[in-house]
Amino acid sequence: MSSKSGSKKQTFAEIVAAVESDVPVPSKDSAISPGRFSGDTLYDLAGHALREVDDHALDPAEIRDAVLAGALLAWDSCGCGGYCNTLKWPDPESLLREASSAIPRFRKNHPARVTRLRGEGGDVLLVAGDLRWGDLFR
Ligand SMILES: [Zn+2]
Repeated sequence: MSSKSGSKKQTFAEIVAAVESDVPVPSKDSAISPGRFSGDTLYDLAGHALREVDDHALDPAEIRDAVLAGALLAWDSCGCGGYCNTLKWPDPESLLREASSAIPRFRKNHPARVTRLRGEGGDVLLVAGDLRWGDLFR
């Protein structure tokens, strides 16, 4: 934006300063939304990129153990694996409360696929499909 109302000429240093202040600060967060997929990569709520640890689908006891060890859950109820970006992240306190009292249950004919992802902020279990675990997934 230039204005002709000011008649004084800018010095070169002032021009440089003005240009530099207009340059957006490069941020690795600018292209991502915490808690969602960006391209093929899921980011945790703190904005850390998550990578699948392996192909192993966790069973209910393993899910509980992982949560008790501090893992968070990202739940995709439609079961596509989170690409629809309607992931829900149960809060850690509720997770621990359920994990300390019960193991989750799969629906008989449509067990959720639960895989472990890992990032700088810790582990996240990606839950694709239906999981019953107290009041967490309602
Ligand atoms: Zn989905």
